[in-house]
Amino acid sequence: MVRDVRMRGFAERADVAQVDAFLREHCSSLASERVPLLECVGRVLVEDLSSEVDVPGFPRSSMDGYALRGKESFGASNYDPISFDLIGTILPGSSFPGRVEAGQAVRIMTGAHLPEGADAVAMAEVCREDAAGGRVEISEAVAPHKNVGAVGEDIRRGDLVLRAGRRLRAQDAGLLASIGVDTIPCVRRPRVALVITGDELLPAGSRPHGAQIVDSNSVVLRGLLERDGAESLPFEILPDTPERIREAIADESADVVLVSGGSSVGQEDHAPRLLAELGQLDFHGISMRPSSPTGVGRIGRRFVFLLPGNPVSCLAAYEFFAGPTLRQMGGRSRAWPHRRAHFPLARKITSAIGRTDYVRVALEAGQALPLATSGASILSSTVRAAGAVIVPRGREGMAEGEGVEVILYDDEIPEAIGSGIDGAGGPLT
Ligand code: AMP
Ligand code: MG
Repeated sequence: MVRDVRMRGFAERADVAQVDAFLREHCSSLASERVPLLECVGRVLVEDLSSEVDVPGFPRSSMDGYALRGKESFGASNYDPISFDLIGTILPGSSFPGRVEAGQAVRIMTGAHLPEGADAVAMAEVCREDAAGGRVEISEAVAPHKNVGAVGEDIRRGDLVLRAGRRLRAQDAGLLASIGVDTIPCVRRPRVALVITGDELLPAGSRPHGAQIVDSNSVVLRGLLERDGAESLPFEILPDTPERIREAIADESADVVLVSGGSSVGQEDHAPRLLAELGQLDFHGISMRPSSPTGVGRIGRRFVFLLPGNPVSCLAAYEFFAGPTLRQMGGRSRAWPHRRAHFPLARKITSAIGRTDYVRVALEAGQALPLATSGASILSSTVRAAGAVIVPRGREGMAEGEGVEVILYDDEIPEAIGSGIDGAGGPLT
């Protein structure tokens, strides 16, 4: 029999660390899929990749100039240039049909295939053609191999170019293009079903009226999912009716289900009981602020996160539990992806032993200022804040002036803040 906790409150609460450890242990990376080259940036590679070709695959001129036999230019100087027979031109993309013999040179452009017989390129600046273009004078010696990119200089056939687990950068994709790859084995992106519940909710894009509010949680969650490399499935807002919520939570096309709202112990909070019936409710009630009415469970291998409807709670519960899980499933690091910086606290933070707090802070005059309006329903606190300070469960609070680590919401630290501390950008860890 599933215990119905509605209107009774939480008997006991789990620790953030305990839930995190549970998720880490029970979650694994998804299977792989082949991703088109042009879509692979940011994706996680599942296999070591080696090159089947040399890059460049031909000896290549790295200058505009004249291809010749380097040895024949020895002794050339401004006062005593050496003259060569100019037998043709070679542009990038084609190969010279003949061979460069003794006393001959070929006009060559950067990136072109060095002709047979030649072993060096004299750069145009030290050469002068005669008016008829039949001869060229070289006024500086050029050693063999000079200004020539050797076969495999960039990548050699058989070289390991990228290791499994690599999150592909733009330049990685460029390198894969250069070795002739067109699809890349990557970890599949987690598919996420959003189950947005609440009789009071209007779809995003509506104007709030009467006793109704606009669903902002799905908008926030979709942004976070995008950041974490997950894909959100199409969804609709559901009323607080158990049948509809049950059906949505049971969605088998998802790897992860995020339920927003109805996660607590109120009369209309059906999700915890439904999850316990359909699968298991591993945790319900977590010792943290905000987000204490968070639930975590599973249906088969599918994780279900019950995120409180209060917007700040929804955001924090995502960051603490759903985000790391989705990143791990997608082959990324569980670690929070934010930049961090240290600042002294402008005002003390009060917490309680045994509870983890997620405190929004503004950055002012080089100090982290905890925002007074810290209610879980005040989404604007996360907009005014530059980031958050996490008060660990073992701390009763943090003192004014204490150096704290701020998890920054933005990738760039605004100049005004950076200059208030220790040079632009501040002391990053
Ligand atoms: P609940 O967790 O369902 O008890 O909701 C807690 C508070 O969050 C209530 O004030 C809800 O109106 C509000 N809320 C619930 N869902 C959303 C949502 N999707 N967007 C914005 N606020 C919400
Ligand atoms: Mg509700």
